[in-house]
Amino acid sequence: MDITHCHYHPAQPATWNCAPCQRPYGDCCIPLNADAPDSGPVCPLCQGALTFLGAANTAQPFWERIPQFFRYGLQPGPLAFSGALALASLFMPRFFLLWILLFSVATKYLYSVIEASSQAEREAPTLLSAFVGEGFSLFFKQLVVFFLAFGALWLASDFHSEMVFWVVNLTIMLLMPASIIRLALEKELSAALSPEQVGQVIKAMGWRYLILCAFLFALWQSPSYVTFLLSHGLPRVVLVPVAAFCFGYFGVVMCAMMGYAVFQYQEPLGYTIAGEDALEGFPEREWRRRRALAEAEVRLKEGQGGSALETLAEALDREPGDLVLNERFHRLLFGLNARERCLRHLAHYLPLAAQANPALAATAWSNARTLQPDYLPDDPLICERVAAALSERHKHREAIGLLRNLHLRFPDYPQVPRAYLLAANILAEGLGQLEPASKLLGFIRSRYPQTPLMGEVTKLEQTLARLRGNA
Ligand SMILES: [Zn+2]
Ligand SMILES: [Zn+2]
Repeated sequence: MDITHCHYHPAQPATWNCAPCQRPYGDCCIPLNADAPDSGPVCPLCQGALTFLGAANTAQPFWERIPQFFRYGLQPGPLAFSGALALASLFMPRFFLLWILLFSVATKYLYSVIEASSQAEREAPTLLSAFVGEGFSLFFKQLVVFFLAFGALWLASDFHSEMVFWVVNLTIMLLMPASIIRLALEKELSAALSPEQVGQVIKAMGWRYLILCAFLFALWQSPSYVTFLLSHGLPRVVLVPVAAFCFGYFGVVMCAMMGYAVFQYQEPLGYTIAGEDALEGFPEREWRRRRALAEAEVRLKEGQGGSALETLAEALDREPGDLVLNERFHRLLFGLNARERCLRHLAHYLPLAAQANPALAATAWSNARTLQPDYLPDDPLICERVAAALSERHKHREAIGLLRNLHLRFPDYPQVPRAYLLAANILAEGLGQLEPASKLLGFIRSRYPQTPLMGEVTKLEQTLARLRGNA
């Protein structure tokens, strides 16, 4: 199974799907409403209910999480479980029924690890949980599976062919994890033995199932390996509990890994489980805003520019002062070449952008000039801010154009000296026009002698004089 990505954002894993539209969506396109967590999200295109894909596409592959599985086994629950096995191996009387009971509790515990792990629960089940509830029969069901496997092996050995024996042996070893997973999740013997259900687990994981088997095989060998390493010189009374403890610990690690593999491949396995992190929603207002932005983007990418516009216009009715919504709306209008509407919207957008983000205002102004070459904002402050932003982008000529004759266009504007000082700076530094810059400074000096900016005017005049002297 390969990861499905958002149809509109190829780097984002898909978390939702619209079957009629055949569109997988990532969280990028489907913001959730925290104020109405029960109302499921709808498709941005058809407004139909979406199918949740769970964490199938966001889950980290199990082979990248090996250290986490080993750490999982070090939690209080698994350690208590392994410790109990070690103690039992030392002190429990050789009483058949008692041992059957021990095995059925142990099996129940291990399978509850598979189950918890398949739900991406980080916390391991407590040892106590193995003694209550249902599932004590799991051991017997598992025993039946093992007996059948041994039966098959026994039959195979009858052929007196090493080949046949090993083929059967290998097949059993390969099928066993899938069968155990089925038994742990369905708790039915029929599921563990059903070729269809066992096959589905293998099919869902594809060749990665072999990786799982390889890891499980290595882990399965680990307790015997550890015991072998310690077997020299250690008395039996130490060795046996150590072996039992290792068996418990590695058993938990194996089960955690199998469970997580189910979590990772939940979608083809027919389960839907949310990710480890709960789905986070936004407060209603923010959610509406984000939904409008996402929907507009989806519609635009589908070639439905008109609908995208309406979506944004509707959102702007609610949030007229939102810079991002306005910016998106402006870009869309300009992109769609909706000249009249774009110019009308600019009257609202340009002041907003000039106030909050002059760089955006500079872009909007350039766009406006494309639509209408003599476009000029009707507010001197906006002219000033946009000119500064343009000059920062080295568009000095355009910046000067915005400031030209400001004192005639807006005779009542009190900040003309400031705007002209800016213009003089742009002329001198940006365009290297020292003469016009000096003239402009002279104009400020004669026309606005009371301006508090006179100190700066003098400073710039001195700089200009020095530059001319050098030239
Ligand atoms: Zn997306
Ligand atoms: Zn749809």
